[in-house]
Amino acid sequence: AKGAAMVTAVAYRLTEQARQIQQTLAEFRLSKSQLLEVKKRMRVEIERGLKKDTHKEATVKMLPTFVRSTPDGSENGDFLALDLGGTNFRVLLVKIRSGKRRSVEMHNKIYAIPIEVMQGTGEELFDHIVHCISDFLDYMGMKSARLPLGFTFSFPCHQTSLDAGILVTWTKGFKATDCEGEDVVELLREAIKRKEEFELDVVAIVNDTVGTMMTCAYEEPSCEVGLIAGTGSNACYMEEMKNIEIVEGNVGRMCVNMEWGAFGDNGCLDDIRTLYDQAVDENSLNEGKQRYEKMCSGMYLGEIVRQILIDLTKRGFLFRGQISETLKTRGIFETKFLSQIESDRLALLQVRAILQQLGLDSTCDDSIIVKEVCGTVSRRAAQICGAGMAAVVDKIRENRGLDHLDVTVGVDGTLYKLHPHFSRIFQQTVKELAPKCDVNFLLSEDGSGKGAALITAVGCRQRELDAQ
Ligand code: BGC
Ligand code: MG
Repeated sequence: AKGAAMVTAVAYRLTEQARQIQQTLAEFRLSKSQLLEVKKRMRVEIERGLKKDTHKEATVKMLPTFVRSTPDGSENGDFLALDLGGTNFRVLLVKIRSGKRRSVEMHNKIYAIPIEVMQGTGEELFDHIVHCISDFLDYMGMKSARLPLGFTFSFPCHQTSLDAGILVTWTKGFKATDCEGEDVVELLREAIKRKEEFELDVVAIVNDTVGTMMTCAYEEPSCEVGLIAGTGSNACYMEEMKNIEIVEGNVGRMCVNMEWGAFGDNGCLDDIRTLYDQAVDENSLNEGKQRYEKMCSGMYLGEIVRQILIDLTKRGFLFRGQISETLKTRGIFETKFLSQIESDRLALLQVRAILQQLGLDSTCDDSIIVKEVCGTVSRRAAQICGAGMAAVVDKIRENRGLDHLDVTVGVDGTLYKLHPHFSRIFQQTVKELAPKCDVNFLLSEDGSGKGAALITAVGCRQRELDAQ
């Protein structure tokens, strides 16, 4: 009888443990009405960003990009493109040919940006960028060409023209000094001058969402929205000029870089943010900023998971209650690990092997719990990201006075492309929350490079027209 009582006690402890774990994860499981609420609040913030009276204090900035149309196939020429702010820094040569046999040919090289440079001085950062361009031009044998350049710079910039962008704030892992409040095109031009090795014609500064939209629109004209679900999170779309109150003119459309990552920075998402989200924010380089991004982008999902695992371990539910040095290390769960852990093809034994690789000694039970934690965190990410997108497509539909809208969204980003479930849950959510829109999702191939070149091509042509 004593043995039976002990078995019961153990079983009770296990179910009590399971109950507490589920209770912890329940906060991440959002109902449809909560998601509809997220959509509604995004819409409110969109309006605040667009309106002159509220733009200044708005969190979702709705930044004008001076891109007024999607490509029409007549773009032509050789362009240099830079891609800074995603998973990799790259320099590209893009050859666009118009006419019957239109084509885009690209050559690119990936360069590392050491952490010391990302978080050093602005001068060091831009000198490093120019050093990489120099290496690339040598490699391609094109140092004397004075090519037009499109700069994909994946951070919030206040643009006053296609080739002027004042950095509002750094995001993600960047924190170089003396850049915020400065025109990054000027910083690049100055660094090129300092080097005295080659000349370039910087024509456009481009957000990665805009590059992605343009790349997809080159193939599919119904593409009028761009989405990045990668290291960071953001979207852009073609807005009516008359609604963009901070830009003069009421005719036609302009692409707006939403900077939706900052959604929630005024506290409007606090009711769904958990203690773990707050811990991630407190541990970040930009506390209080990019709160929505910190709930749904690749750079932070692993951090949320890590915070939950630390808490569950402290409470004795995981890793025999031992918090290892690994678990204390920031950034250990990169998107690629989460993607592996959540892959359905992976047996639990393999999940354990991945954790082992990370230096986490797990039991079989541990690996089940870790996998569930990852799945819950990434599901919420895909859902709130979907709620944001639902707000965008419904806004476009209403702009055009339509009962029904067909639209294509160009998408890029490691989370979207690598994660085994993110894209499916995201799409499902958009469908459920914006039932009057038929949204088609198109993966962009190398949007940052190609898109920047396409925008540069349009910019060059416009300049020639203006000169006439
Ligand atoms: C930046 C955006 C960018 C997004 C995706 C965010 O952190 O603020 O400008 O589009 O990341 O790269
Ligand atoms: Mg990118």
